[in-house]
Formats: sequence, C-alpha cells, structure tokens
Amino acid sequence: MITVEEALSTIIAETEVLGTETLNLISSLNRVLAEDIYSKDNLPPFDKSAMDGYAIKSKDTEGCSTEKPARLKVKGVIKAGDLYEEELHSKEAIKIMTGAPLPRGADTVIQVEKVKEFSDEITIIEPIGREKNILKMGEEIRSGELAIPLGKKIRPAEIGLLASLGYSKIKVHKIPKIILLTTGDELIDIEEKLTPGKIRNCNEYSLLALAKNLGAEVKSYGVIRDDPNLIFEKIEEAFEEGDIVISSGGASVGDYDFIHDSLKKLKVDTKFEAVAIKPGKPVTFAKFKNKLYFALPGNPLSVINTFEQFVSPAIKKMMGIDEVSADEFPVILEEDFKVKKGRDNYVYVDIRKKNGAYYAYKAGSQGSNQLLTISKANGIIIIDKDTSIVRAGEILNGRFIFK
Ligand code: AMP
Ligand code: MG
Repeated sequence: MITVEEALSTIIAETEVLGTETLNLISSLNRVLAEDIYSKDNLPPFDKSAMDGYAIKSKDTEGCSTEKPARLKVKGVIKAGDLYEEELHSKEAIKIMTGAPLPRGADTVIQVEKVKEFSDEITIIEPIGREKNILKMGEEIRSGELAIPLGKKIRPAEIGLLASLGYSKIKVHKIPKIILLTTGDELIDIEEKLTPGKIRNCNEYSLLALAKNLGAEVKSYGVIRDDPNLIFEKIEEAFEEGDIVISSGGASVGDYDFIHDSLKKLKVDTKFEAVAIKPGKPVTFAKFKNKLYFALPGNPLSVINTFEQFVSPAIKKMMGIDEVSADEFPVILEEDFKVKKGRDNYVYVDIRKKNGAYYAYKAGSQGSNQLLTISKANGIIIIDKDTSIVRAGEILNGRFIFK
C-alpha cells in the first residue's frame, strides 16, 4: 500500500498532456490555451470618451467660477461609432457620448452633469484639467504586446478579451475521452423496481457528472455483468476508444471481482493497487499503450473520493491545466473527529466562514456508502494516517470539493 503523495506523483509522472486543436471562440470556454495571444491592435484603437459629456479645450475653463462661468458654443454631437471630421476650436464644445472618438483639437471631456446646457451653448463654473474622462489609444494594450499567456484557462473574461483582440479561432489543448465501466450484478437502473438483493446504480451517474464537471468528454458503456469474459472484452474495447478508462466496483478480492484478472490478461502495466486513503483504499492505477486505467472501488463515497484525489489531477494534466496540488487552506475544527489510524482520512465536512476564518462541522457518517453525507458536505479535512483523534480548536488542511 503506497501513500497518497506517492500515488499522486506516480499518476502525474505517467500522465501526458494531450495535443492541441483549434476551436471556435465560444467552444474554447474552460479549455487551456495552447498558444500565446498577442494583441493585433491598440486597445482602445482611438482616444475615446469615458463619459457622456462635452469634448472641449481645458484651457477654455481656466479661471472660471460661479461668478465668471466659461461659455462655450456647442458645435455638434458625436455618438459612439461616429467620427467627427471637423477640428474643435477655442470657445467651442462638441457633445460626446461614452465610447465616441475624441474630436481633433479637444483635450478633455467634461461630464454632462457638470455643465449647464442652453440651446446652443453650455456654461462651466469649475476649471477642468487636461485628459479627464478620456480612455487613451492603446491604454489597455498596445499592438504586438502579450495579452494572454499559453497555459491559461479560458474563462468568460478571456472569451470577451479574445473577441476584443480579434481572435475567433483559438488553439487549445484537447480534452481526454473517458470511458466508464460500471460493474455489479446487484445493480438496477434508476427507474427499475427495487427487488430483494438489488440496489440502484449510482456510481455511473456520479462518475458521468464528475467527468462532465471537469469538462472532459465521457462515454459510459453502461452496467457490465460480473462475467470475466464480458469484463475483459469491455476493457479491451474501452482502451481502443478512450484516453482514460475508469471502472467502478469488481476490483477487490471477492469471488466475483474480475477487474484485476482482466487487467493481468491484457498485460497492462499496473503501477499500484492500493493507496493509504480512506475512503478508497482498493484503487488501481495502470497504463496500457499510453492510456490510463483507474479501477475505483464500488462504494459510492469511495468512488467520488478516489476520483477527486486521483483521476481528477490526471484529467486536468491531460487538458493542460498545470495544477500540482488542490487549493488547501487552514480549517479550524468546531468538533472532535475520531478516525482509524493507518490511512489518510478524507473526512467530508461542512466548512463555514466566520470572522474571516474557516471552521469545519460534521456532515454525517463517513461510511463509504454514505452519499447523503457528501451531499451535506462542501469540503474535506485531511487527517493524516498516524492520527486517530483531532480535537475541536485544532487546525487542519481543508479543501472545498467539486472544484
Ligand atoms: P465491489 O467493489 O464491487 O465489491 O462493490 C462494493 C460495494 O459498492 C458493494 O456494496 C456494491 O453493491 C456497491 N456498489 C458497486 N457498484 C455500485 C454502483 N454502481 N452503484 C451503487 N453501489 C455500487
Ligand atoms: Mg461488485
């Protein structure tokens, strides 16, 4: 049995970043950029008004006051999208809308709220300096400058930025194709009637959701009966089709656990078969022709925990996400937690923020079939394998889940 850290570093070392593809802008959301993005233009492309107001010469307002207001003649209006050809002269103003280009001769914009408007003239009672309420050409970025570095995850902000920079096709890393194999003769589907000895299949659905949540492509082969030949055939087919194969159940030492036999028959390169983690000890990681295989336990909580701790980092790495360890932060225990020593305990808890600090509350039994507990939890605390009790007030590392 290896430690969680050893398991993780093995997985990361054995996982390769996938190649690249070019997508339409919107399809690139949540993908990882595979090229540096340089600005093709100056942004903004011209000096523009940041306010609704009047484009004027600041000099014309020098020394003005309530007693001696500056009076300027209004020569016209510029709305966003228009270009005003004529030059602005002294003692003149041109009404200007937010986003419209500053006319030649103007050096500042005074907000509409700060002037008194008459039919063809305005008065100003307070001097205004140069370059007020103006966005200068190239102020955001200049043509040829690096805008978004390679490796950055494309979020909604980057989608907007890429559009404003003139990019409609984006080179990104591919996403892995995941094949799910769900084993167990006891499993019935959601709408079937529960009969003695049978339970509803939930792992297939949690795994579909977990993979989807990361933006991976996922295909399920459905429930596969506990039949050694069938399981072998399906694993072989899954390796043909996917980048990552994940099975749930059938990987322990029971009489009807056939995953390991099939993996041996296929001569996969098994890297480990057990990790000191609770829930989820019997987790196998293997490689076959550069594809990854994760045999996850059958218990529903173990499935989620092992996916989160081991499969998720592999998927992220394949997608080009450079994330060695999940975001951990200190969490203060609100209650005592008793666990069994020997494995790192991932305890599903409710983490709440109080006065700027995070506190952990119990969310329920940590039995490995307790999906109800995980549903009440929003995070985990990690109790290391040499500790059997942690007390209220102690500080542990915690994480939010399903990020
Ligand atoms: P196994 O690893 O196949 O021995 O399964 C361990 C436990 O998880 C057993 O109680 C199974 O009934 C349960 N289990 C396995 N697969 C699923 C599944 N897809 N949905 C819900 N429970 C499952
Ligand atoms: Mg089983």
